[in-house]
Amino acid sequence: MEDNLERINTIVADGCRREAILQAAGILRTGGLVAFPTETVYGLGADALSKKAAGKIYSAKGRPSDNPLIVHVADVKAVYELAEYVPDKAEMLMEAFWPGPLTIILPKKEVVPDETTGGLNTVALRMPSHPVALDMIKASGLYIAAPSANTSGRPSPTEAAHVAEDMNGKIDMILDGGAVGIGIESTIVDLTGACPTILRPGFITKQMLENIIGFVEIDVALKENESNIRPKAPGMKYTHYAPKGEMTIVEASNTGDMNLRIVEKINELVSEKMKAGCNVAVIATSENADLYKCQNVLVVGERTSGETIAAKLYGTLRKCDDLSVDYIYSEAFHTGELGSAIMNRLLKAAGHRVIKV
Ligand code: AMP
Ligand code: MG
Repeated sequence: MEDNLERINTIVADGCRREAILQAAGILRTGGLVAFPTETVYGLGADALSKKAAGKIYSAKGRPSDNPLIVHVADVKAVYELAEYVPDKAEMLMEAFWPGPLTIILPKKEVVPDETTGGLNTVALRMPSHPVALDMIKASGLYIAAPSANTSGRPSPTEAAHVAEDMNGKIDMILDGGAVGIGIESTIVDLTGACPTILRPGFITKQMLENIIGFVEIDVALKENESNIRPKAPGMKYTHYAPKGEMTIVEASNTGDMNLRIVEKINELVSEKMKAGCNVAVIATSENADLYKCQNVLVVGERTSGETIAAKLYGTLRKCDDLSVDYIYSEAFHTGELGSAIMNRLLKAAGHRVIKV
């Protein structure tokens, strides 16, 4: 496999075909890079126990070297090969949520190189439920280090075309598995301290975790108004998920007709920018879409459906780039149980720019 990043093209293949899975497994075994679908977002995979292969992920993504990778496994047995110690609560969580969108942090064994863990003595582990991901990991016979398959800082890819946009020519292969189901990254829980702690919110909520293992903390850096505290998941400190245009969230305090105030404020901001000759987009729920006076109204789903909003969020942020938008105004989406995971991503994408009305 070539080592440089000057490949003319990346192979794109249907992830449901057995030959494609075998080809991907062969590439991974010889130290190459393969992007693959998971139920959360597309991952960019390499042999997790090879320093050189893991290092290539950082180059292809332009990822800071202190931002560790999640190691994807195809069975629970693998966890005992990679983690120094597996507490009871880890076993309970794996039993309840694996395969699925939950990553657990455990103390690492020597065999996991620093290149994979960003120099930490802990390792992030997840068993994805997407059949293409599971088949590929099994066929490779490896543990697969895989962050999201986007250029660092850009929105995570939820379709193979998004991966190709960022990675064509920089990686060996993309397994196309269609649009992913969940659309935002896994929940990360740190099990190395006295109390289990959520480092990144995701589809598996605090309540779901607490139903299995009792009280769970939330990393203080994730709490509102704490954006200056250094998060325990190194990657959470970086600008992320961001479209190229400047994005602002418009949020209403919980009094009176919140919705009307949001729409009025966004229309006022849009009108100002359009008068100045800028290209503007609004990210809206379907209920409000018709109320905006803007050339680009991008609908993320119904106000009551967190699942749809999560699934469409990153694609919508990428669409803003396709439209070369200068300014983006988004409603806030504190929708149901997924609200905190969605708002965590949206706030990062907006660089924490929020206007309260
Ligand atoms: P990505 O796969 O691109 O969503 O990035 C993986 C996320 O997992 C980043 O936010 C990392 O900082 C986090 N992560 C990976 N390994 C660890 C670890 N050992 N301790 C804490 N966070 C981790
Ligand atoms: Mg990522």
